[in-house]
Amino acid sequence: SIVVTGATGSLGRLVVGELLATVPAEQIAAVVRNKEKAADLAARGVELRIADYSRPETLDGAFRAGDRVLLISGNDAEQRVAQHTAVIEAVQAAGVAQLAYTGVLGGPEADFELAASHKVSEQLILDVGLPYTFLRNGWYTENHTDQLAPVLRYNAVVQSAGEGRVASAARADYAAAAAAVLTGDGHLGQAYELSGDVAWSLAEYAAELSRQLGRTITYNNVPAETHLSILTSAGLPQPLAEILVDLDAAIERGLLAATPGDLARLTGRPTTPLADTVAAALAATA
Ligand code: NDP
Repeated sequence: SIVVTGATGSLGRLVVGELLATVPAEQIAAVVRNKEKAADLAARGVELRIADYSRPETLDGAFRAGDRVLLISGNDAEQRVAQHTAVIEAVQAAGVAQLAYTGVLGGPEADFELAASHKVSEQLILDVGLPYTFLRNGWYTENHTDQLAPVLRYNAVVQSAGEGRVASAARADYAAAAAAVLTGDGHLGQAYELSGDVAWSLAEYAAELSRQLGRTITYNNVPAETHLSILTSAGLPQPLAEILVDLDAAIERGLLAATPGDLARLTGRPTTPLADTVAAALAATA
């Protein structure tokens, strides 16, 4: 089977949707921790395998010999290494044909906080000798466009990334790339640096919002400490706020700006332009 973990998440749902377009549903399995949340996938004929990354005993039987598996990284930064270790061990014990893993653009070279657990996970996959494909995902454009409420309220994008550029792509682009490596040949032992075709600055993002809204949205670049206090005053937990400020520092240093073209090559189409994702987000808020 082709097995997708995190199938009830935003990216996982898009991957399963892509697979259903080209592969018979009975060949697709979803590893999910919440069966109810996956009812729509089961209704489309996808096999559900119930397992929790944090409970290794539930991972027994989640994977089978010959499976082609996509491990979608977990969203709990503090638990991630332990969780991925458990999944990698279960995948290894099952004898799968392929483990594709969603890491981060730059792989071991990415030195910001969120990248550390991806580096450990990739190294473990290499150490155990699994047939791997690394999908080193760059930034989702939706990381920005899902946060429009304060931007629209204050007519300002308030961040601390300076003139740094982001080669983001839509989640759907990364999902299409994942589906391509799970269904195609020649991807074993490959590390793909996935990113959008065009790198943009936050000033350009603000300009695009201004153009589409017909009013001025400014980019207010603030010092890191100011950014941190704005985020925590808005109610974000301190650790999450610190991660976001650290990511802006990474953007300023150019770590999310690479445009090697791997994503467009894997999907066979240009990545979704910033303007399209902005338009979709604005339509959703209207
Ligand atoms: P989501 O948060 O929407 O999805 C995460 C998925 O992981 C969910 O299906 C969730 O299950 C599942 N999951 C989390 N913990 C466990 C667990 N203990 N056991 C089993 N399943 C678990 O994130 P996205 O789909 O948007 O992104 C996928 C991943 O990409 C994220 O988890 C994160 O690692 C990374 N990411 C990348 C970004 C980027 O810009 N490249 C930005 C943000 C995240 P459930 O549905 O039950 O909650």
